[in-house]
Amino acid sequence: MVDVTNRRSTVIKRLVIVVIAICAVAAGFFMFQSITSPAKAVANQKNSVQFASEQPKVEMKKVAPEKYNGQVRKVVYLTFDDGPSEFQKEILDILKKNDIKGTFFMIGGNIPAYKESVKRLVKEGNYPGVHSMTHNYTKLYKEGKFVEEMKQAQDIMKEVTGIHPNLVRCPYGSMPGLTQALRDQMASAGMKEWDWTVDSLDWKLPGNPNGVTQNVVSHVNKEREVVLMHEKKQTVQALQTIIDDLRKKGYEFEVYDEADHFPLNFWHDNRI
Ligand SMILES: [Zn+2]
Repeated sequence: MVDVTNRRSTVIKRLVIVVIAICAVAAGFFMFQSITSPAKAVANQKNSVQFASEQPKVEMKKVAPEKYNGQVRKVVYLTFDDGPSEFQKEILDILKKNDIKGTFFMIGGNIPAYKESVKRLVKEGNYPGVHSMTHNYTKLYKEGKFVEEMKQAQDIMKEVTGIHPNLVRCPYGSMPGLTQALRDQMASAGMKEWDWTVDSLDWKLPGNPNGVTQNVVSHVNKEREVVLMHEKKQTVQALQTIIDDLRKKGYEFEVYDEADHFPLNFWHDNRI
């Protein structure tokens, strides 16, 4: 009996020594890692702005969409610029019928004439982004009134809907007009800007809704796409087919969410 007890205690002692040794090696490894980790070096780097010429394509910085039932989700954001207009009601009707929410970028000066439509847009879960007051390239970019105009449009939106939208879209896109100085002003104001990944070119195609559909559906291929459209008659005419065809391609539809922002500007400026 004594012999067995001694043997047992020897085994336990050896086990304890092995466990302590493993812990010591692991602790040493993690300490070494934390000192030399490249992730730490990257985190300490200053976030420098890259020129578009250095990065030819817009890359979305957000982590790729989560998998769902083992499948990667394919998501598309439908965006509508230059409203509110006489076509907004029909766009909202189609979105509602399909249980889809859209992201709108509206011109401040147009809002007062379509107050009820814009209120409905918000009530139905669509995002009320803004798109300047004048839509004038010279005023916005050459005279540097961009942030001032966007703030005015935000204030009008707030007055009508109670929402002060942080996301704006640059008339004509952010390249080349939205200079570093303007982006600095935006960053200080907490303003974000979305360009797009697919351009429907709908404004060029009056009377040709099939052309609009084709421009969108043939170019939507990545896991996450943001489609630029406008409040135009041909867009209204194309919208149901666009939705049907994108669904057939396995896409789901999402609306912009400030809590879930990801940068999407042609300058690759991650501050906005
Ligand atoms: Zn526009």
